[in-house]
Amino acid sequence: MSLKGKVALVTGSTSGIGLGIAEALARQGADIMVNGFGDTPVIENVLGDIGKLGVRTAYCGADVGKPAQIAEMVAQAQQELGSLDILVNNAGIQHTAPIEEFPDDRWDAIIAINLSSAFHAMKAAIPAMRQRGWGRIINIASAHGLVASPLKSAYVAAKHGIVGLTKTAAIELANSGVTANAICPGWVHTPLVERQLQARAESEGSDVAAVTRAFLTEKQPMEAFSTPAQIGALAVFLCSDAACTITGAPLSIDGGWVAQ
Ligand code: NAD
Repeated sequence: MSLKGKVALVTGSTSGIGLGIAEALARQGADIMVNGFGDTPVIENVLGDIGKLGVRTAYCGADVGKPAQIAEMVAQAQQELGSLDILVNNAGIQHTAPIEEFPDDRWDAIIAINLSSAFHAMKAAIPAMRQRGWGRIINIASAHGLVASPLKSAYVAAKHGIVGLTKTAAIELANSGVTANAICPGWVHTPLVERQLQARAESEGSDVAAVTRAFLTEKQPMEAFSTPAQIGALAVFLCSDAACTITGAPLSIDGGWVAQ
C-alpha cells in the first residue's frame, strides 16, 4: 500500500505514540507535519529521522490547547505540504487525583488538549477533505474511552468524549470519502506512562519494575505493552483502501483490557 502523495498531520508527534504513527505513515510514503513540544535538537532529530524515509516534513509547534493555533496549524500544513489528507489527533496529557481534589486548571487543560483539540482540528480540516473526496481522521482515544479507572476523571471524560465525537464525525462524513475512527490503546510504554510508573513507585516505596508488572496485570489480561509502532501499523491500515468502510469505530489494541 502506498500513501505517496498524501499529507498527514499528527498532533503530539515529537514523542511516544504520535511519533510511532508519524514514522509508520511516512514509511508508506505520506508527507508528515510534525507537531508537539520538545527542545530544538529533539525536534530536529524527529524531522531528520522521518525525512530519511524519503518524505517531505514540516513542523508546527502549535499548542493544541489553543483553538486559534490549531486552525493556523491546519492552514500551515495545507500551504507548506499542499493538502491535508490524514489528520491524527493524538496529543494528550494526564493528571491523576480524586475528583474532590482534582485541580480545576488540570481538568480544563485535559479537556482542551485531549478532547476539544480534536474538534477544532477536524473543523479546520474537513472542508478540504470533503472537497477532495478523500480523507482519514484518526482520533487516539484509549481503553479509557470505553471503561473508567479511578483518579482519572478528566482523562476518562475526555476519552469517552472523543469516542462520541468520532462517531458523530463518521455519520456526518459517511458518503464523502472521509472516514473517522478512534484507536483505543491499552498500556503503551511511552514517556506519559513512564511518568505514572515513576510516580507510583515513589508513592509506594517500590521499584519501577515491580510497579510496571502491577500496572499491566491490574488492567490487561495480556501482560505486555503495545508499542507505538503497532499503533502506527493500525493507523496505516485505517488509511488503506481495505479500511474504506470502517468508520465510527472505536478500535481496541489493548491486550484484552476492555474484553473483561
Ligand atoms: P507522550 O507524553 O509520549 O506524548 C505526548 C505528545 O503530545 C508529545 O509529543 C507532547 O509534546 C504532545 N503534547 C502534549 N501537550 C501538547 C499540547 N498542548 N500541544 C501540542 N502537543 C502537545 O504520550 P503518549 O503516551 O504517546 O500519548 C499519546 C496519546 O495516546 C495521548 O492522547 C494519550 O492519551 C494516548 N494514549 C496513551 C496510552 C499509553 O499507554 N501511553 C494509552 C492509551 C492512550
